[in-house]
Amino acid sequence: MKTFPNALGHVEAAPTPVGQPCVACRVPIKDGDVGVLMPHIDVDGVTEEPWHRRCFLASIGIYVADA
Ligand SMILES: [Zn+2]
Repeated sequence: MKTFPNALGHVEAAPTPVGQPCVACRVPIKDGDVGVLMPHIDVDGVTEEPWHRRCFLASIGIYVADA
């Protein structure tokens, strides 16, 4: 897992993937968004997919008003 921008000091940071759709809500990531890149494994290999931070947290049952 990586974060964008550098949201957590102890996790590897990556450039914000502007224009790529969030896996959960399909809204394109825009400059200034905060989120994570998660590995996705399928028959074509491993890719990284972006999530908004609020979408990723909601996927694990954590709902926050401003994330
Ligand atoms: Zn999202």
